Amino acid sequence: GIPKALLVVCAVSGGAGFVAYSEAVSNNTPTVADLTETQIKKKRVVVLGTGWAGTSFLKNLNDPSYDVQVISPRNYFAFTPLLPSVTSGTVEPRSIAEPIRNIIRKKKVEIHYSEAECIKIDAQNKKVYCLSNDKTNLKGREEFAVDFDYLVIAVGARPNTFNIPGVEENTLFLKEVEDAQKIRKTVIECFEKADLPNLDDEARKKLLHFVVVGGGPTGVEFAAQLHDFLAEDLSKLYPTIKDFVKITLLEGTDHILNMFDKRITAFAEDKFKRDGINLRTGSMVVNVSDKDISIKDIKSGSISSEPYGMIVWSTGIGTRPVMIDLMKQIGQGNRRVLATDEWLRVEGSDTIYALGDCATINQRKVMEDIADIFKKADKDNSGTLTVKEFQEVLKDICERYPQLELYLKNKQMHSLVDLLKASKGDIKESVEVDIEEFKSALSQVDMLMKNLPATAQVASQQGVYLANCFNRMEECQKNPEGPLRIRGEGRHRFHPFRYRHLGQFAPLGGEQTAAQLPGDWVSIGHSTQWLWYSVYASKQVSWRTRALVVSDWLRRFIFGRDSSSL
Ligand code: FAD
Repeated sequence: GIPKALLVVCAVSGGAGFVAYSEAVSNNTPTVADLTETQIKKKRVVVLGTGWAGTSFLKNLNDPSYDVQVISPRNYFAFTPLLPSVTSGTVEPRSIAEPIRNIIRKKKVEIHYSEAECIKIDAQNKKVYCLSNDKTNLKGREEFAVDFDYLVIAVGARPNTFNIPGVEENTLFLKEVEDAQKIRKTVIECFEKADLPNLDDEARKKLLHFVVVGGGPTGVEFAAQLHDFLAEDLSKLYPTIKDFVKITLLEGTDHILNMFDKRITAFAEDKFKRDGINLRTGSMVVNVSDKDISIKDIKSGSISSEPYGMIVWSTGIGTRPVMIDLMKQIGQGNRRVLATDEWLRVEGSDTIYALGDCATINQRKVMEDIADIFKKADKDNSGTLTVKEFQEVLKDICERYPQLELYLKNKQMHSLVDLLKASKGDIKESVEVDIEEFKSALSQVDMLMKNLPATAQVASQQGVYLANCFNRMEECQKNPEGPLRIRGEGRHRFHPFRYRHLGQFAPLGGEQTAAQLPGDWVSIGHSTQWLWYSVYASKQVSWRTRALVVSDWLRRFIFGRDSSSL
């Protein structure tokens, strides 16, 4: 018959099989049963999503002792910061997409990809239920279930319509590569239709009225890209109708780019006015029909309707149905976004992690934790600590809440003692620190209550962090390196996630960009645009996409943007 050793090698696949084989041989009595057991011992990690968070996790996972199954309806990673550039044809869609199989084939870890969407997460039985894509229509959609030991949820978010009637049916979103392609096509179709003979001026004005809803970074960048596309390319190609074009940017609050420094907001608003963009702040959309958009002026309460050719809806993000279902299962049904702890573990679970736009670190329980840290240190139950004890406690708090430490650094406070001093006046070595007073000083730190922004920067840093935790799982199990446990003995295995803000760009069109860099350093203008080019070229996920993006930029400089409705 077949020799036993040969049978063993056939039973496993790939490099991992040979590792298992040699281990079995070293035990002198290898059997198929032994090997299967070894294989089973490989921890099964299921990763949902191939966006910023999921891809960064996969790229950084190096421990071959995991068996990884990736599930995502999108078989590529998309570089979302360049999506607005795709809407105008400055960059081609394929230039910002990297096939996920290209990324995982270079890994030494066993990673399998399935093109499917997760439709249900069964947290208790450690199973995810999936539905394959229906792109080919050959066989219909297949349903399947996958077991996991660890689940990494990185499914991102969906556009938020706030349930405003007509938004879903009549507006375009800017979230996926397909959305950007659709916008590009629609803009050109609007121009072609408006240039048909026998149309009156009103019909032309309607077709060439482009409305952008949402004055956040995405809405603003899109409006700027659209303006450049019209001013630099389409106006030359459609000279007879160019004067009918109007771009309206609607924002509910009093200013656009609210999260940026006031200087950037003012510059952007001024520039848009000079560019002839109709900027309407304090305006809320209340209804969208297939012909008109109804806008409420928040101050006066009056509602007006405007005909439009195309609306792009960019007002923030909402939770995906699969996440809403999971949140109900685990008792988070009253929350808006899934909450995790500082180690990115879904609250109440040791094996499910969530990162990126689909989750948020629950900062709200910081007060509870701090009270417990104090209680532990306050051995005589007096409600006060000596300054020495207090300093010890502070170390613990900052270790556990790195965001707080960064906040203090930004405010030029060197420790939490400085925070207490700021609120209470000077404290002396001999004076005891009252816990209640300290808590009230802390509660003024509104930063603690804020969530991290839903950005690619956060998502990718979380991916790197979690992969490093997985890579060092065993090592840190033996030698835990995290902060002391608040409720319980010993230390946490890992340091908590620490976000490093590297700054944020707001491209404003006309080769001008605004940037807010760490330390509240603001830079605006043409030179910042060059910084933007270099940062985004360097941040590309592969050399292939880097080369494609840079050549797209060069092509645009030399030949302008392409206006065919392909
Ligand atoms: P995503 O990147 O959205 O990835 C989610 C993944 O999950 C996708 O692969 C998706 O197909 C998959 N998925 C969805 N549903 C399921 C399911 N049911 N089962 C399995 N998989 C699923 N951030 C910045 O920091 N800087 C910028 O300049 C910037 N510009 C942006 C411009 C635009 C137009 C947009 C839309 C976003 C921009 N962002 C920017 C934000 C950034 O893109 C997001 O914060 C980031 O994509 C979040 O990463 P993520 O991995 O959580 O989600």
